[in-house]
Amino acid sequence: MPENSATPDHSTALAVAANPAMTTIASPTAGILTLADIDIDSARALLARYDLALICVGAKAAIPGSYWGEPEAGVIGATVYARSDTPVHSLLHEACHLIVAPAAKRASIHTDASDSQAEEDATCYLQILLADELAGVGRDRLMTDMDMWGYSFRLGSARAWFDRDAEDARAWLARRALLSHTPASMAR
Ligand SMILES: [Zn+2]
Repeated sequence: MPENSATPDHSTALAVAANPAMTTIASPTAGILTLADIDIDSARALLARYDLALICVGAKAAIPGSYWGEPEAGVIGATVYARSDTPVHSLLHEACHLIVAPAAKRASIHTDASDSQAEEDATCYLQILLADELAGVGRDRLMTDMDMWGYSFRLGSARAWFDRDAEDARAWLARRALLSHTPASMAR
């Protein structure tokens, strides 16, 4: 989840106010794609492209490095932690935080990977692109899940932001050659 909500007036992909798990009574992940719904090995392979490891902890186990707490994914160094009820969007979001972080900084990251609004925006943009790399997910479903989960965008939805307000994020990623790993996405 976006951790930095200090600059809402300037935000495009705006930080989430709170983990909806805190305010939802039953299952916070109802209707949201979780790791249980996808092929973990393909997620692992996707992260490996960026030299990231994925470690899945057991059901109900604490998730190391989870900023928002379970079931949200956690980050420590080059490792993303998750469990079967972790939302796919959360896995991708936290992984993308590590991907967009400067290489020299990655090793020192623990729990809070967010460094700036530019990184937050780039993270949200890249997670949408990488959703296309996971069978059964795809950008459309991921953006729907992001909206359901409570990501907040200035234009009202992840889709509106991605299509019409994310040029800065795209340029930011392009400058760092971070779009080159997603040829399938680029073709659209
Ligand atoms: Zn974030």
